[in-house]
Amino acid sequence: MAKKQFKAESKRLLEMMINSIYTQREIFLRELVSNASDAVDKIYYKALTDENLTFNKEDYYIKITADKTSRTLTITDTGIGMTKEELENNLGVIAKSGSLAFKKENEAQDGHNIIGQFGVGFYSAFMVADVVTATSKALGSDEAYKWESTGADGYTIEPAAKETVGTEIVLKIKPNTDEDQYDEYLEPYRLKAIIKKYSDFIRYPIKMDMTSS
Ligand code: ADP
Ligand code: MG
Repeated sequence: MAKKQFKAESKRLLEMMINSIYTQREIFLRELVSNASDAVDKIYYKALTDENLTFNKEDYYIKITADKTSRTLTITDTGIGMTKEELENNLGVIAKSGSLAFKKENEAQDGHNIIGQFGVGFYSAFMVADVVTATSKALGSDEAYKWESTGADGYTIEPAAKETVGTEIVLKIKPNTDEDQYDEYLEPYRLKAIIKKYSDFIRYPIKMDMTSS
């Protein structure tokens, strides 16, 4: 399958984030949890007004699963999901609020100092992962799709199997090198601390499934 290319400015932001300093990398989880929460908000409010949607508070949550054997960190939400077009348009380009604010600010400043302050968005996953997949089924759709990218060299989209509406983001956590440690992003205590630090205000349950670690 032919790979589609990111826009030039997306590539630049991506490179900067991938090279961002150690202490700022942890914010990737804040970004992914906030996206998951936004997606759950969308379905939650839809359910309040749409009588065809049944409302169950227990149905709305975010789940974080770490698997050391496969080196994967998975963020699952029961949110509104994305269609094939939405996967393409929303994850394929950097054009959204948080990312845009960051990009503008960066024109005058050193990105390393400010990266942690802004909502840098979905792409921040590439600070800790060398492969990111987003499998999603949109509300009202029978089909699911998988978006996959190794970063700067573009992304693919293909049909996928997913029973329930929502999105599953899988990060293949980078291997450790002499300079950089990534194992911590598979450690339950570390993940819990990051969640506590940045995502304490999220109003849906954040379930941690660390059974396989
Ligand atoms: P922002 O959150 O500022 O819009 P992001 O880069 O974080 O920018 O996300 C880009 C877009 O991708 C979001 O606006 C949303 O439309 C979509 N998106 C990302 N993650 C999810 C998700 N888990 N469920 C549904 N849509 C998502
Ligand atoms: Mg976001």
